[in-house]
This record gives sequence, structure tokens and C-alpha cells, in this order.
Amino acid sequence: MRKAFASLIVVLAAVLCVCIFFARRSRKPIGKSVAALIASLIPPMIGNMLIIVTQDHLVADIGSYMYFLGMDLIMFFLARFTVRYCDIKEIKPLSILIYALLLADAVQILMNPFFHHAFDHETIMFDGAVYYRLVPHLGQLFHRLAVYGVLAIILTRFTVMTVRSPRVDAERYAAILLALIIIAIWQTFYIFSRTPIDRSMIGFGVFGLLVFYFALYYKPVRLLNRMMAGIVGEMPEALFFFDKNDKCIWANDPGVKMTGIMPGEYAAAKDILTKRFGMLDVEEQWTRRYMEGRGEEARYYEIQRRQVQDRSDLIAGSFICVRDDTEEQRKHAKERYMATHDPLTGLFNREYLYEQIRRMILARPERRWLIIFHNIKNFKIVNEIFGNEFGDHVLRRVAVWISSDMPEDTVYGRLGGDTFGVCMPAEDFDPDLIESALTGAVIRQGSIEYAVQIHLGIYEVTDPEMDVSVMFDRARLALSTIQDNYQRHIAWYDDRMRMNVIRQQQLSGQLTDAIAKQQVVPYLQPITDRTGRVIGAEALVRWIHPERGMLYPADFVPVFEENGMIAEMDRAIWRSVCEILTEWRETHPELFISVNISPKDFYFMDVAQKIKALISEFGLPPEKLRLEITESVMMTDEEKHLKVINELKDAGFLVEMDDFGSGYSSLNMLKDMPLDVLKIDMKFLSRSTEETKTRRILQGIVDLAEDLGFISLIEGVETEEQYQMLADMGCMLFQGYFIARPMDTGGFEAFVRNEKAE
Ligand code: C2E
Ligand code: CA
Ligand code: CA
Repeated sequence: MRKAFASLIVVLAAVLCVCIFFARRSRKPIGKSVAALIASLIPPMIGNMLIIVTQDHLVADIGSYMYFLGMDLIMFFLARFTVRYCDIKEIKPLSILIYALLLADAVQILMNPFFHHAFDHETIMFDGAVYYRLVPHLGQLFHRLAVYGVLAIILTRFTVMTVRSPRVDAERYAAILLALIIIAIWQTFYIFSRTPIDRSMIGFGVFGLLVFYFALYYKPVRLLNRMMAGIVGEMPEALFFFDKNDKCIWANDPGVKMTGIMPGEYAAAKDILTKRFGMLDVEEQWTRRYMEGRGEEARYYEIQRRQVQDRSDLIAGSFICVRDDTEEQRKHAKERYMATHDPLTGLFNREYLYEQIRRMILARPERRWLIIFHNIKNFKIVNEIFGNEFGDHVLRRVAVWISSDMPEDTVYGRLGGDTFGVCMPAEDFDPDLIESALTGAVIRQGSIEYAVQIHLGIYEVTDPEMDVSVMFDRARLALSTIQDNYQRHIAWYDDRMRMNVIRQQQLSGQLTDAIAKQQVVPYLQPITDRTGRVIGAEALVRWIHPERGMLYPADFVPVFEENGMIAEMDRAIWRSVCEILTEWRETHPELFISVNISPKDFYFMDVAQKIKALISEFGLPPEKLRLEITESVMMTDEEKHLKVINELKDAGFLVEMDDFGSGYSSLNMLKDMPLDVLKIDMKFLSRSTEETKTRRILQGIVDLAEDLGFISLIEGVETEEQYQMLADMGCMLFQGYFIARPMDTGGFEAFVRNEKAE
């Protein structure tokens, strides 16, 4: 019995030695501490074996010391192994406590030969021979406390790891934990039962083997396998696995579905894939894109082939992964399209157009390139009158017109709002063709018909490096020179235009100063009644510029309307007019003066309040200051502006509608606007060549004014015939070069005096 047990221990120790050998050679970092732990298991086992087999007191003593010191050693290496195995940070104070305890125990055990305080041996007869049984003393209690204390700490650690780790890992902690608990109980049983043979030593050996296996070789393979099969099976990609002879051995569900093979008949997949996507095994590893079908119906695939190598770097097989990323590609394409195209017209948007133009010009900088800016005249009004839907229709039609029959090397797009941009080689541009296409262009939708006016501003590129936006600025500048022109649709940029802009900017900077120096003054143009008597005047602004001479409204009013300075200028003119009227209270109390109110004034000031304040400042009767308003004022914020006009009327001012006939919704406007005078401009009618028609229209307007209770005033009367004709028609007031040109105040006063004298 003893011999059998001893041999078992020897065999186990030998096996453990083999484990130590492999553990030391292991490439894993934990190998060394596994080897140390296993090695530490051997002394107590051998010690125990000695006690069992010996008949000699001394040998039994040596065996006991090997056992006790060996236990300390085991605990020491187990503590170190635990830190490694659990992959945790060492808790320094705890480690020091453990090492100190074990060291103290070892020292006191080594003292035993002198003090015999830890243990002795007693001889008993067992199995037919002498057996040395341990007699515990107080020192042994300390030994047990030290060893069990350390074990308790380690067990706690493994318990925590088992509970806290994901399932894949928990298994390996649980195995060690379980083994530790079993041998702990086994050992305890032996200690208390005091049976002669410590069978728990077998447990030590087995524990060593467990540690060896779990620390160095165990992989949670079963679980991993299950997880991997699950993941691969559920992947949306089609997967095909091939053996090293390129025979398909497995496909996941999407793969089966994609190839239409019968489940399980994987070998057929290869031919089907090859037919569909081309050769699959030409190279070892690759990633390829594949497009199937065309246009909207096209489907996109990303195909990958990877080889799988086994541990000795031999090809074990390969797999092919087919990913259908059609949706992704469509989304990308859509996003790309959205980012580069205008959703309404489908043309390039501005940013993308600029980019394309820049690329095109820089690719062939030696060519003559034209930058063409298109604008739809009065597009805002189209929207307002016909509605946004028709407005959109107009934009789409214009887009179609721009994009049709375009020569090669031409790019075009929508710049925004009602403006479009084109870049094309100069030799391909035919101005006559365009001009004739644009004359009389009409856009229809249902019952709506609209004579669309499109203007082109053209800049010929001189510096290919110039910013495309600057090129378009220049083209737009060219366009602005013909904006109000109905006969010409094309304007070419030249550098004088830019100079003009610069000059206009200079004027803006000088205005305030010029007003203070009284260089900006009202000229007066006489207005007569049917008898030819001057009854008043229209104030028309003039800028007597110290360097540039007399400037006319056309030179600066549009600029100031754009930048808002018009309000400052008009207030100055109105004030000057009030000053003149104040003087006239003595000399010409019967005369009135009409002032112009720009539609833009309404945006930059409270027109009613400003004018009323002026009148009361000068103490003038309001009917002496007549107010000329163009109907375009009613194009935007109609209600708000109507309120201002009503307020002025209520305050006693006479309101005149200026430039009647030049606008759009004239007749409707007449119904709503509280007017006193209808000012009809001859120049808007003179365009018509047919004189009888002109005559009819004029007669109509004059009659209409009379019917509606308005005073009719005709301006722009240049000849005696015109004057006579209009007088015959019943027109009431007259203004024009035929009577007199606008003059400064002195000139006007002289004119009135002369007339009176006649
Ligand atoms: P408008 O209010 O229609 O003024 C009449 C324009 O016709 C004036 O041009 C006048 O000189 C011109 N005119 C008068 N009789 C005849 C004629 O028989 N034949 C021709 N061909 N033209 C004639 P002007 O002074 O160059 O003013 C142009 C425009 O500038 C004015 O048109 C008005 O809209 C604007 N304007 C003039 N003064 C002011 C002002 O003080 N403030 C604002 N906001 N605008 C002003
Ligand atoms: Ca006027
Ligand atoms: Ca006018």
C-alpha cells in the first residue's frame, strides 16, 4: 500500500517535471510562473513520500521539513501565478503581507529543530511497519494560519474573477478555483483525520496538471466555435469557404441564396460564382469591385478572397466574401448628386459649377473661354403674380434651354435664384443665334403665358488663374448695364465697367460731404396746366461735382438705391425743396414742388414721419409738397407701404403715381392706391411704332384717370404736336422739354417771371 502510493507520487512528480520543461519553453509570458508553481508542488509531495516509506526518524524529519517549507513555497508561487493568470495589477501591500507571512512561517519552521515548538514525530505501527506520524505543536498552528490565510486571499481573487468575467473566460477561472477548493478540503481532511497517508498529495499533482493545461493550452474553443459559426451564419455578406483544392465546402445562408445552390451542395457554388463574377482563383488574395447591370438597375458588389493558413504556414483553404453594397453605393451616388446639383433644375449647383469651370479652364488655359451670366428679368414678380409653381416651371424651362444643344467643352449650372452660369469656348458662342432665340421667348404652362426676358452678361477670361467667382462678378456687371433694356439681351464686359463701379463707389464715399457742401441740389422742371401757365415743378436731383461736372441721377441714384444711401440723399433734396418753398411763400405762393420718393426709401426710413416732420419744421402747407411714388413700391410689403401712403394722404399731401404705364399691375394698383395725380411717361409709349395705337392707349389712360377722379399729368412732352395732341385728349397737366428742361432754382424763377411777363 505504501509502496503503491509512493510510486504514484513519483510518477506524478515525473509528469510534473515534463510539464515544467514544456512550461519553461512556452512562448507565453505566463510560462515561467506556471513552471515555478508546478515545481513548488514537488517538494511537499516528495517530502510526504519520504515520511511514508522511511523507517528512519531523520528521513521522516527531512520529509516533514520539505513538506512544511514546500507549502510556503507553493503559496508563494501560487500568489504570483494568480496575479499573472488573472491578468490583474498586483496589489503591492497585499503581496508584501503574503510574502511576509510566508517568510515568517518558513523561519519559524526552520527554528523547530532547536525549539521543537512546531511539531514532533511519534511512531505508530501502520501497515505492518513503523510510521512516523506528525505531532502538532503551537508553531504548526501558525503555519496553518499563514497557509490558509494566503489561500483564502487567492480563492477570493479567483471567485471574483469567475463571477465578473464573460462566459468565455469564466470557465478557466472556475476550473482553477474548483481545483483549489477541492485540494484545500482534501488537505484539511487529512490534517484533522490524522490518517497516516496524505492522499491529498495526489490532488497536488493533479492541480499541477490542471494549472499547466488551463494556463498554457486551454482555449474556450467550444464556445468560440459556436459563437463564430453564429456570427458567420448571420452575416449579411455571402460567404463561401474553400478547401485547399479550391472546392467549395461551405456557404452561409446568404451565400446559398445568392448562388441558388441546394443547401448542402456547396461544391456547385464555385462555377456559379465564376460565371457571374469572373475568375475567382487567379491570384491568392484580392479585393475587387463588380457592377452588374446598368443605370438605375445596376447592382454593386465588393468581392474579397482571403487565404487561410494553418500553423505551419501551409495553405489550409480560402474563403470568398461577396458584399452587396448597392444600397450604400446608391446612397453615396445620391449624396454626391445632391451635393453637386441643384434639385429643382438638375443642373450643377454653384460650388460644383465653379469647380468644374476652374478645372476646364486650367486644363486648356490657352483657349479663349467665355463666362456667361444669365439672369431672368423680374423673376420675383413672376413668382408673385403667377405663383411659385409657375416660377419653378420657368426656371426649369430656362434650364432646359440653357442645357440643350450645348457644344463640347461647355459646363453650365444654376448659380442660385434666377441666375444661371455657363462657361464655353469663345468660338462656339453665336451671339446672333442667342439674340434671336431670346427675342420674343415665351414660356407657357396651362393657361399662363409669360414673355420671359433673359439677359446675358459675358466676360471673356483674360486671366485663367482668376477666381471663377470674380469672373462671374464681371459677367454680372456687364449684364447690369442692360438690365432694363428690352431690345438687347447680351452685354460684354469691358474694363470701363469696372472703372465705373469704382467711380460709383467713390461717389458713395463722397455723398455726405457733397450734401454738406450743397453740391447735391434739386433742379426744377416746370409743370404747366392746359392754359400753359406754370403751376409747379418737379424736383430732379443734380450733383454739381467739383471734378466731374454735373452728374445726373442715372450716374448715382441706382448705386445709392442699392446701398441704401438713397434715403440720405432724398432727405437732403426734400429739405432743399422745403427751403425753396419757404422762400416762395412770398414770391410764388401759388407754386408747388413734386419730389421723388424712391421705393427703397421705404426700407431705410419712416417716410411718412420724416416728411410730416419736415413740413411742420418749415411751417408749410402740405399740399405744396407733392409726392411722386412709383407703383413698384407696391410690389413688396404692399400693406405696409399702403399704410404709409394713406398716412401721408391723411396729412394733406398730394400723392402722384410716377411713371405710370412702365410697370405691370398698373390697373389693379389704381383701385387700391389713394392717388391724386397719375403721371404718364411718354417715353414708355414711344416704343410703339404705330402711332394710332399709341394715341389710343394714351387716350384710354387719360380717360381712365378722369373716370377715377385723378388728375392726369403727362411727362416727357418734347414737341408741340405731342402737346397739342395731349391737350386735345383732355390731359390736364404737362411736363417736358417742350416746356422747359430742368433748371436750377434761379433759372426756374427767371423762367416763371418771363412767362408772367409775356
Ligand atoms: P422721373 O421721376 O421720371 O423724372 C423724369 C425724368 O425725365 C428726368 O430725368 C427728366 O429730366 C426727364 N425728362 C423731363 N422731360 C423730358 C423730355 O421731354 N424728354 C426726355 N427724354 N426726358 C425728359 P432725370 O432728371 O435724369 O431723372 C431721372 C430719374 O431719376 C427720375 O425719373 C427719377 O426716377 C430719378 N430721380 C431724379 N431725382 C430724384 C430724386 O431727388 N430722388 C429720387 N429718389 N429719384 C430721383
Ligand atoms: Ca418723377
Ligand atoms: Ca417719371
